[in-house]
Amino acid sequence: MAEKLLPFTKKQIEKIIEQYPTPFHIYDEKAIRENAQAFKNAFSWNKGFKEFFAVKATPNPYLMKILHKECFGADCSSLAELIMAQKTGITGEEIMFSSNDTPAAEFVKARELNAIINLDDFTHLAYLEEHAGLPELICFRYNPGPLKKGNIIIGHPEEAKYGLTREQLFEGYETCKAKGINRFGIHTMVASNELDAAYFVETAEILFQLVADISRKLTIRFEFVNFSGGVGIPYQPDQKRIDLAAMSRGIKEKYEKIIAAHGLAPIKIFTECGRYITGPYGYLVSRVLHIKDTYKKFAGLDASMANLMRPALYGAYHHITVMGKEKLPHNVAYDVTGSLCENNDKFAIDRLLPKLDTGDIIVIHDAGAHGHAMGFNYNGKLRSAELLLRENGNVVQIRRAETVDDYFATLDFNGLAGFKV
Ligand SMILES: *Cc1c(COP(=O)(O)O)cnc(C)c1O
Repeated sequence: MAEKLLPFTKKQIEKIIEQYPTPFHIYDEKAIRENAQAFKNAFSWNKGFKEFFAVKATPNPYLMKILHKECFGADCSSLAELIMAQKTGITGEEIMFSSNDTPAAEFVKARELNAIINLDDFTHLAYLEEHAGLPELICFRYNPGPLKKGNIIIGHPEEAKYGLTREQLFEGYETCKAKGINRFGIHTMVASNELDAAYFVETAEILFQLVADISRKLTIRFEFVNFSGGVGIPYQPDQKRIDLAAMSRGIKEKYEKIIAAHGLAPIKIFTECGRYITGPYGYLVSRVLHIKDTYKKFAGLDASMANLMRPALYGAYHHITVMGKEKLPHNVAYDVTGSLCENNDKFAIDRLLPKLDTGDIIVIHDAGAHGHAMGFNYNGKLRSAELLLRENGNVVQIRRAETVDDYFATLDFNGLAGFKV
């Protein structure tokens, strides 16, 4: 069972709301740090293990700085994310650039920062050479196709746009070798929000075996294997956390059996987790604006899917706590909605909650990854602030809320007067 606890009391959150109006996201620094340390320790058997935090999950430089202090690097996939890493003080081989359908300018930036470049396709090698020059270290992203089955978030590997086939990998590394590149890594990402440790062990076995095959055939040496992200979190209270110890133990066994036994050690293990690192430690805090009773009961919040899109996008479950009503019977079914003119703007459908009143403070759990980050401005909705609950109990604003001026910033209303229609 995943207990849905909160790092603040009703009184504390009321005090925070006095200063920062709802809706906002708030992150728990202490929990993030402890989780980061535990994650790192789980793989301490592998010298050189490194987690590159997937910036897209929660692109906030304050959180990235905290994670960098815990020795995490940054996994970037766009120009803005590369610049964010740079501005946070993360450069060189502490950046993994795992992009796809990549524009030239992004390869140029990645090369400028000396980031590790993970190529999504065989043809990107020539494209990279033409536009940004070749680095001394190259990684390719492997798509195992029918060897693995995916899920609703990531899709089936064969349908997925990512990565190279096995045959293309051999060709890719061989071409690199011919071009004088002599440092290599390999990457794959076939899961998203996966809670079964065995799934990652199986992926490790496939990847290690592939490394052994390529190394032997091409007489090249791999420096690292990057399992990317996809480690899940228990969104539902009746789900269990992934058994990280079992996952690490299983990967270690495969490592010894395949990598070490073939004299290919040491190889560093890299990960690019986002969700697992910050997901459970971020909360979307909102208030009930209106209660509506028609064919169903609706609780309208001051937040919308612009603040957290996962329920609307994937039908994802996010646990909801009504502050101060935790102990009351949860016996009224509500659709918990936002204000977007889209009927799928619902945080929950037919959710049993205590009887709600306008003004109730609603906390939506597990919004610390792929939450604020997915925010958008459709319907003129503005993205909320991000707050950080520090270890000493202080709260700092790490991103202000958008204003209507931000929304209008790309429009020139002065031009309207002279615009004849
Ligand atoms: C999205 C993504 C991640 C992070 O995924 P999580 O589910 O947040 O762990 C890591 N690597 C790549 C290449 C991604 O696209």
